[in-house]
Amino acid sequence: MNKEIKRSMNILLAGGAGYIGSHTAVELLNNGYDVVIADNYSNSDPEAIERIKKITGKDIISYEEDITDKTAVSEIFGNNKIDVVIHFAGLKAVGESVKIPVAYYRNNIDTTLTLLECMAEYGCHNIVFSSSATVYGEENDIPYVETMKKGTCSNPYGWTKSMMEQILSDASTADEELSVVLLRYFNPIGAHESGLIGEDPQGIPNNLMPYISQVAVGRRDHLTIFGNDYKTKDGTCRRDYIHIMDLAGGHVKAVEYAAEHKGTEIFNLGTGTPYSVLEIVNAFEKANGIKIKYEFGERRSGDLPEFWADSCKAEKILGWKTSRSLEDMCKDTWNWQRNNPNGYRGK
Ligand code: NAD
Ligand code: UDP
Repeated sequence: MNKEIKRSMNILLAGGAGYIGSHTAVELLNNGYDVVIADNYSNSDPEAIERIKKITGKDIISYEEDITDKTAVSEIFGNNKIDVVIHFAGLKAVGESVKIPVAYYRNNIDTTLTLLECMAEYGCHNIVFSSSATVYGEENDIPYVETMKKGTCSNPYGWTKSMMEQILSDASTADEELSVVLLRYFNPIGAHESGLIGEDPQGIPNNLMPYISQVAVGRRDHLTIFGNDYKTKDGTCRRDYIHIMDLAGGHVKAVEYAAEHKGTEIFNLGTGTPYSVLEIVNAFEKANGIKIKYEFGERRSGDLPEFWADSCKAEKILGWKTSRSLEDMCKDTWNWQRNNPNGYRGK
């Protein structure tokens, strides 16, 4: 990409104080981009912004705002020349989405509509969206390829992602200036190698790796493995875990791609290698020399036995490849957790 264009690009990270946004902010700043973060801290902490500044030695403009608030978002666009938006701002807990679906549809769809309206108003033509492997639904064969039809989602969270993909793609069909990049993440885990930023779930973690690391640090007694009677090699579910810094690197490539193309493009971001829950537990124990107490429990409703990515398209078109191993993922998770046993709130 043209270096002059790259240097002057200003990226708005909506929901940028969260897990994926904070790591992406570091990667963008280290690649010469400017970033503006807007977050309502509903699932994050302003301390993450301070840590990003510490890691990169760079300043960031940040706003505590709700992305569903059009007046507030419009003001952000008015005060900053935004070249590309990355839309991370969503509610993401699958189980919670079943209990409060309307709140999920309201937040996730509204943030998307508000961003699109403000982008149109201020002449910003590029958006990168945090989608998920969940949109492949239950019908598709594995590995998942971007050319597959989207499937039936098993929960409202998944449907919000599927719907937002549709909204963004329709918007780019109607506006030939608009560039939309849909990133379908697989299972991000790990933390920045500094141990200064990482995943900091509020309350009981829903996801596997933060649960394991909280058991390791003594915040939880034991891990419950949801089901050991799946038709997989050891009976536990298999997923495509990807190091958060590799995922963050995918966003830098996506921003560059968005700035130079029009229309909608979809990319899977995964490693292409699945690991079972038991393999993850064993890898964490081995990498960090810590025993993780676990027991087998019932299957979790809505879980698929196994899925992973075909990431050839991202490699071919974006020139993106993962480089970090499962051992790196486990070591970096523990480095973050042991240095921040209570997350950002224990700062
Ligand atoms: P996260 O909760 O750590 O980050 C999301 C951020 O958005 C949080 O800081 C939250 O405070 C903020 N936010 C939510 N609603 C907002 C609103 N209305 N206004 C302003 N800020 C708001 O989650 P994450 O893991 O960093 O995920 C980022 C995005 O990627 C989400 O959209 C999520 O659905 C998607 N995603 C995540 C995963 C995963 O495993 N972590 C997988 C697939 C997709
Ligand atoms: N899992 C588990 N115990 C937990 C959390 C997760 O056994 O406390 C399993 C879950 O059933 C799935 C895998 O770990 O097979 C990954 O789950 P996670 O929620 O992290 O990601 P998902 O793939 O569901 O988005």
